[in-house]
Amino acid sequence: MAYLTETVTYVKHWNERLFSFRTTRKPTFRFKNGHFVMIGMEVEGKPLMRAYSIASANYEEELEFLSIKVPNGPLTSRLQHIKVGDELLLSEKSTGTLVTDYTLPGKNLWLISTGTGLAPFMSIIKDPEVYDQFDRVILTHGVRYAACLAYHNYITKELPNNEYIGDIIKEKLHYYPTVTREPYKNKGRITDLIQSGQLCNDLNIPDIKVEDDRFMLCGSEALIKDMTKILDDKGFHAARKRTQGHYVLENAFVGK
Ligand SMILES: Cc1cc2nc3c(=O)[nH]c(=O)nc-3n(C[C@H](O)[C@H](O)[C@H](O)COP(=O)(O)OP(=O)(O)OC[C@H]3O[C@@H](n4cnc5c(N)ncnc54)[C@H](O)[C@@H]3O)c2cc1C
Repeated sequence: MAYLTETVTYVKHWNERLFSFRTTRKPTFRFKNGHFVMIGMEVEGKPLMRAYSIASANYEEELEFLSIKVPNGPLTSRLQHIKVGDELLLSEKSTGTLVTDYTLPGKNLWLISTGTGLAPFMSIIKDPEVYDQFDRVILTHGVRYAACLAYHNYITKELPNNEYIGDIIKEKLHYYPTVTREPYKNKGRITDLIQSGQLCNDLNIPDIKVEDDRFMLCGSEALIKDMTKILDDKGFHAARKRTQGHYVLENAFVGK
């Protein structure tokens, strides 16, 4: 397979487990907000590639990614040391199911993530078309410790003041970060907070129902499994190949 070569333009370490980086983007490289690509580097003469969701929006000049640092992970044990000016490999095409093409029309779009599962939703919340399609966009991000809430300040402070989409963000985007392992204003697993009705209560929005709510799920296997069960029990249907559904999902990583 042929890969594009892109140059690292920015690196930010959130903590010892997470970092973000940006690369140059060829003008010919197109993607849908919510898509993932294969990215990587050459190791011992061969490309070492992994799937990564694109965290930047498709109208932005550079590509942004949010990455885990897996100790001894074949790619991320190396990738975490990248610096501005380094070269990375990128697949020529993007793909993925976390796109509004696969969700049925509805009133509320829920973007439910844990850990690096936030990445595709960073792209989606910057997409003006998403706000044309839905009255509310609710972004939840579940992490263990508050220090893992990547992009928290960007979402709460910068985005609402964005020159182009700030007003629509202030009106329609509801951000609900949750932390499981230390005191925080929203504490607990997102699935429990949805089941108990606390999340809707805290956001002052109606309880979820099949007629109005659409979901995108991205994160750990536990999140996907538990959230899928909650939705299936309430009568929601997943999108299948070529048919839209009430929800779409992507495993942000595959446990081994
Ligand atoms: C569709 C898709 C999209 C993905 N998007 C992203 C992304 O945007 N950012 C990202 O960091 N990773 C993402 N991943 C995971 C990514 O492809 C790699 O697995 C990850 O970068 C680690 O690579 P590695 O070679 O260091 O270790 P690997 O050998 O790939 O993984 C080792 C182990 O680390 C754990 N692990 C891997 N990735 C994660 C993660 N993201 N969070 C928590 N634990 C993990 C798993 O238990 C895995 O078995 C995605 C995976 C898929 C399938």
